[in-house]
Amino acid sequence: MSKDNGSGVAAGGDALLQPPATVLDIAQTLIRAGHESWFVGGAVRDALLGHANLDWDIATAATPQQVQKLFRRTVPVGIDFGTVGVLDKEGVMHEVTTFRRDVQSDGRHAVVEFGASFDEDLARRDFTINAIAYGPDSRELYDPFHGQRDLRAKLVRAVGVAADRMREDRLRALRAMRFAARFGFAIESETWAAIRESAPHLGRLSMERVQQEIEKTLSQVERPGDAFRLWRDSGAFAVVAPPLAAMSDVALATIDLLPRGTNAEEQHRTVNRLLALVLDVKLAVARDLLRELRFSNERVRWVSELVERWHALGAPIRDALASGAASSDAIVRRWVAAIGRTRIDAFFTVLDARVRAESGRAGPGATEGLGSLWERAAAIALRDPLETGDLAIDGGDLMNAGIKAGPQLGAALRALLDWVLDDPARNTHDQLLVRAREIAGEQPHS
Ligand code: ATP
Ligand code: MG
Repeated sequence: MSKDNGSGVAAGGDALLQPPATVLDIAQTLIRAGHESWFVGGAVRDALLGHANLDWDIATAATPQQVQKLFRRTVPVGIDFGTVGVLDKEGVMHEVTTFRRDVQSDGRHAVVEFGASFDEDLARRDFTINAIAYGPDSRELYDPFHGQRDLRAKLVRAVGVAADRMREDRLRALRAMRFAARFGFAIESETWAAIRESAPHLGRLSMERVQQEIEKTLSQVERPGDAFRLWRDSGAFAVVAPPLAAMSDVALATIDLLPRGTNAEEQHRTVNRLLALVLDVKLAVARDLLRELRFSNERVRWVSELVERWHALGAPIRDALASGAASSDAIVRRWVAAIGRTRIDAFFTVLDARVRAESGRAGPGATEGLGSLWERAAAIALRDPLETGDLAIDGGDLMNAGIKAGPQLGAALRALLDWVLDDPARNTHDQLLVRAREIAGEQPHS
């Protein structure tokens, strides 16, 4: 099944063009059973770029049913689209997809047909850099759309007529911008024109798919701001996330200064990037946008809580830093109490990125002051009473001191907290009881 190699480039010497033995096994099993099979897609592209990628996808002439028969352990991950997950000896899943052609498309989900040749299968792929194939036996590249040339030229270029390809599947516009930012590539001019023409039609995409693209951009791309600048400039944001249509360059730069999470435990880092994306949007609008994009309730809540604190405190804290004078402990303690103990790290991480993004204007002094403020805030968050629950007194004590149950009790607790925020040494049972009696005397006797 040797193919004329479009580029004439032999790949034998490429250290990273080494699919793991387990995946090679799967591909060779398919070939031995008489089914033409190739590695194609992200792993081949990444290997040629010198990046590791563990997802070696296999494209095959075998039908999904034939694939299911041939392997002991399979998962029907996307069987309607021809994709069967095959588990290797170690239980790791690899995607095996039947050659297919698009028969119909509404710009939203393609309807595919099997029985296609491999050339047809490659022709339906989105970008030339994603349409490079590598033979499991021949160990040669097959690259009829000159993806390697575009890799060298650092270009994202649609396979075939860009406008047609974008019309078939609007998601490709968002994918192009992600790949460009991820690899530091430019978008070839006809492809870019087609993306801009696509922008008004992106409303056809489901919000889940847009959300997925945002997530992938935040987690995969070193500088997501580069991708979102393209979303802005192409008009994509105006359609899929209108509140971000005029996102500032400083806001974009802020995202880029936040590290991404590289594993599950570091997910909160990627969440910080999501926070930075909507930081300048009004609270209610940001919350609606995240909901519309179908982010989980937990994400929406966390990001909204921080946006709210940012709008309340971002400016006063930056003003205080700009003044150069150290803020008193009582002031910092009130900031920390308002931000909330659990949110301090996220708030300051994003504040720090924003200050650095603005540093052209603020000067390096702001960054230095911020470091020590952050340390003080973190120490206060650990050490000081900041919530009514931290008070050395409870509702029962207050009722004994003569405060009525109901709203007056809540008001008294808040008044006591306010008093303690000025000086945490006041947080003893005896002092609070004395102060509570005073408050009881001041309260209206309705
Ligand atoms: P990543 O490293 O992000 O997974 P990838 O290139 O492997 O990048 P996938 O989404 O895993 O991207 O898709 C695998 C391959 O399937 C792509 O390389 C491309 O050839 C093809 N493909 C995926 N989505 C589309 C699409 N919307 N239109 C056309 N081809 C697509
Ligand atoms: Mg992939």
